[in-house]
Amino acid sequence: MAGEPQADCLFCKIVAGDVPATVVRETETTVAFRDINPQAPTHVLVIPRAHYPDAGTLAAAQPAVAADILREAAQVAADEKVDTTGFRVVFNTGSGAGQTVFHAHAHVLGGRGLNWPPG
Ligand code: 5GP
Ligand code: ZN
Repeated sequence: MAGEPQADCLFCKIVAGDVPATVVRETETTVAFRDINPQAPTHVLVIPRAHYPDAGTLAAAQPAVAADILREAAQVAADEKVDTTGFRVVFNTGSGAGQTVFHAHAHVLGGRGLNWPPG
């Protein structure tokens, strides 16, 4: 069923506590944890507890949870004190765009200069 945990999904395992992660924030609907391979001084992933393969699918099925992800991303930026210097929220969607984990997630990046357009 849509949104149910998937046995072969790494981020579902992090939500369940079966794979360890450095969690920085949690809500009823979301978990935020540090990326294992950080690309910036602040690099935190914000994910829904529910399993959807990407951000658009999540927003279509559970728009309130998609909004929770954005609110939590901003809160992470504030907690990390990168809100004043600027930060980027990225949803890689599809393998051609670099998506490697097919459980929706926002990358929150900050703490260094962020070029535009991104690579
Ligand atoms: P994507 O490439 O799908 O947009 O982002 C997946 C992210 O998950 C990558 O930045 C990668 O470094 C991160 N990642 C992969 N495996 C793990 C893990 O086991 N723990 C954590 N904390 N992050 C992971
Ligand atoms: Zn999942």
